[in-house]
Amino acid sequence: MALSAFIRLLRVLDLEEKQGWRNRGVIGGLRAMSERWANDARTEAANSQVVDVALALMAQYDMASPAERPALAEQLRRVLAGDPEELDALLPAVVPNEEPPKVEPPKVEPPKVEPPKVVPPKVAPQNTVPQNPAPAQGKVGAPALETWEADIDLDHEESFPPPEPTHVARERVRRQQAKINRNPRDLQADPTVLPGVGPAAAEQLERLGINQVIDLLWHLPVRHEDFSQLRTIDQLHPGEQVTIVANLWDLKDRKLSVKRQMLQGILADGTGTLHATWWNKFVRNQLTIGSTMRFSGKVGLYMGQKTLDNPVFEDLDDDMVATGRLSPVYSLTEGLSNKRIRNIIRDVVEGYAHFVPDPLPKALRDEYQLVDLPTALQQIHFPDSHEQLAAARKRLAFEEFFYVQLGVQQRRHELQQSQGLALPSDPALLAQFTAALPFALTGAQVRVLDEIAHDLQRTVPMTRLVQGDVGSGKTAVAAGAMWIAALNGAQSALLAPTQILAEQHYRGIGNLLRQLTRPDGTPLVVELLTGRVTGAERERVLEGLRAGSIDVVVGTTALIQEQVEFSNLGFAVVDEQHRFGVEQRGALRSKAALQPHLLVMSATPIPRSLALTIYGDLDVSVIDEMPPGRIPVKTKLFRPTERERLYSFLRRETKEGRQAFIIYPLVEESDKLDVGAAVEEHARLGQEVFPDLRLALLHGRMSGAEKDETMRAFAAGEFHALVSTSVVEVGIDVPNASLTIIQDAERFGLAQLHQFRGRVGRGQHASYCALVSKAEGPDAEERLRALEATNNGFELAEKDLELRGAGDFLGTRQSGLPELRIAHLSDIATLSLAREAAQNLFARDPNLAQYPQLEKQVQRFWRGEGDVN
Ligand code: ADP
Ligand code: MG
Repeated sequence: MALSAFIRLLRVLDLEEKQGWRNRGVIGGLRAMSERWANDARTEAANSQVVDVALALMAQYDMASPAERPALAEQLRRVLAGDPEELDALLPAVVPNEEPPKVEPPKVEPPKVEPPKVVPPKVAPQNTVPQNPAPAQGKVGAPALETWEADIDLDHEESFPPPEPTHVARERVRRQQAKINRNPRDLQADPTVLPGVGPAAAEQLERLGINQVIDLLWHLPVRHEDFSQLRTIDQLHPGEQVTIVANLWDLKDRKLSVKRQMLQGILADGTGTLHATWWNKFVRNQLTIGSTMRFSGKVGLYMGQKTLDNPVFEDLDDDMVATGRLSPVYSLTEGLSNKRIRNIIRDVVEGYAHFVPDPLPKALRDEYQLVDLPTALQQIHFPDSHEQLAAARKRLAFEEFFYVQLGVQQRRHELQQSQGLALPSDPALLAQFTAALPFALTGAQVRVLDEIAHDLQRTVPMTRLVQGDVGSGKTAVAAGAMWIAALNGAQSALLAPTQILAEQHYRGIGNLLRQLTRPDGTPLVVELLTGRVTGAERERVLEGLRAGSIDVVVGTTALIQEQVEFSNLGFAVVDEQHRFGVEQRGALRSKAALQPHLLVMSATPIPRSLALTIYGDLDVSVIDEMPPGRIPVKTKLFRPTERERLYSFLRRETKEGRQAFIIYPLVEESDKLDVGAAVEEHARLGQEVFPDLRLALLHGRMSGAEKDETMRAFAAGEFHALVSTSVVEVGIDVPNASLTIIQDAERFGLAQLHQFRGRVGRGQHASYCALVSKAEGPDAEERLRALEATNNGFELAEKDLELRGAGDFLGTRQSGLPELRIAHLSDIATLSLAREAAQNLFARDPNLAQYPQLEKQVQRFWRGEGDVN
């Protein structure tokens, strides 16, 4: 829940005091928060003079030494508390020019400065500054906490029962009872079979993808609040999450502004009293003054007083569903509160989880010490302890990895059974290829080409992934393998994700391979096939492929249309493999009489150990060396307040004749249209910031042809800058571009950021990558700093694995794997166990004949999803 700007600032000051005035209470220091703070405060209708003075003080604070800061903080606190003397004294210094200090303020402002409306419980600043001798009374503004508390009967004492020691046993009995009268067939029924779930709730659930009762079991919590610590009020420490059993002594509305209202309660147990604050006024109807309840929340500190912010609460007699335990937090949809969905799921977990059959054989569960599925589902929602939660997670993650591994093994197995065309090579002829290159291959390129040549000479079809950072020269390696295929009379095809990339590859590969002639003197024939190739030209290419007169074809998905037939396809390359689904790769392969050798290329670096594991027994080659002479891209993190500086820099670069990318994230993850902020910002930048520059726009709602046209025009230098969503990612080459500005960089994964950065630094110009981020929280910041520190994608991948928690380096989308509900690709320990288990099982029973249930799950898991084969 958002706090009012004033409270937020006061909190920061409290934190500063606690931490010794180091200006670390907020990331980037007080100045970094000041712009947004002022906006918020003004939106909340705060007195604008107070805001101005506070801003000035914040700036001073930022530059002051730790010794000077306590005094500045004190001034700030007074100003925020609405102390008119302080304000009068400071105002002239802050707003000096327009009017002499003595002149009456303009009419819109009241002549006498009033205390800002948003100052919340009106605690006199003296409360937190004990060394200040001034009494709290007599100040302008609301009464201090002491006076507020004075209405309350402090003698009211009651000893509260300690938390029910038998509650665990009682719950067990209830759980037993809950199972009675439930029908296992209801698992597949509409959620309205559940008591208390009507059509309206069912519709809301549907929005969360929940159509059947069983889907509720798989609506896993995004996290748990740890309210398992039961405390008395005198034992509370700020920052902890706790549950207390307390009596609600009092409850008051506090109006902070026209729009904002809060509820403030006083909680008491035998050991003391405590304030609780709710920002949701509806809570009032659920609370009764004088009742004793369990309250759970995080202990906060406000003006030196301990508080509970937005505590959840339950009657003592009720089961511990939300309080007194690890309490689940779910993803929600409009109209459906966490409380509501938690109660619905609780009901389903208790009534139905035990009906869910476990696809993992018992022997396997025993061997790997995994809990059964009903237990795992029960504990993942409502864990009895951290250990049980961990055990549930491990079990569910293992199961997912196990399906991944079984699926990968099955595909691998099928492939190995099939026959391919042996394509042996001769070192002397390979030397002819390297001699034709305008550069010397790097050591890594030579090694990988060698690995491929070794695979190609066997009749077992190759399935090899080549990983190499952006610009590491994967195309040249693929071209070398095409040359080997051509020498054997076999055709090659390269599938690229976009027209413009296909054309780029066609030019590069064509220029290179056409220089080569076979021992019989015939040159290689290279053609292009995309949606743009039409009419007679298209007929000519199709005929050439059918007749075998074309050696190499480069194209888009136009290559896998039905009319396309090959005479003798021996080698297929898929570039930027994560862009394609399994059907498309499969379709390309099916163009050959015999299984063609397959090479997939990816610029998404992942640690080798991980690649080997998630891709099952796929062979992996890594180009871990860059061609010499590249100027590394300089990367730097910027605050949103520094945007203007960046825009000046952009202007300077364009004056030099360079071009720039400006990349925006989608507004929401679910923004399927892939338009995001780019459209609005393109308009705004064009009107307000760069009216003199030509700005192109690229986003996912444009058609493939429009996107290609925009990229082509940008690459041809017709625009100064390209404003884009993440669609710009794929390996496009614009050597003249020297600057990438990535807005809200924290919203992208490291892999994607690294890809964006790879859009520049491809020519002879010094290039820059600016990450603009408010990066709140150390995780986000550390991730972005990692990009500053290295240009090496593999190092970044390792770093991301190490950081974890902040999201996978490799989203499952990019891995080509089915979506993982709970497993994390960085959990290599569980992954390895699952791999071992899958290999053992597969060795005994490759068709899973003895495990029909398991076979069904694997099929279901992989259905319609991508894989790398
Ligand atoms: P990517 O691995 O990202 O697909 P490319 O194959 O597009 O990279 O190569 C990037 C650029 O580097 C191309 O312009 C290519 O000609 C060049 N290049 C590739 N290998 C070498 C090398 N060994 N030495 C110098 N330049 C190279
Ligand atoms: Mg490439």
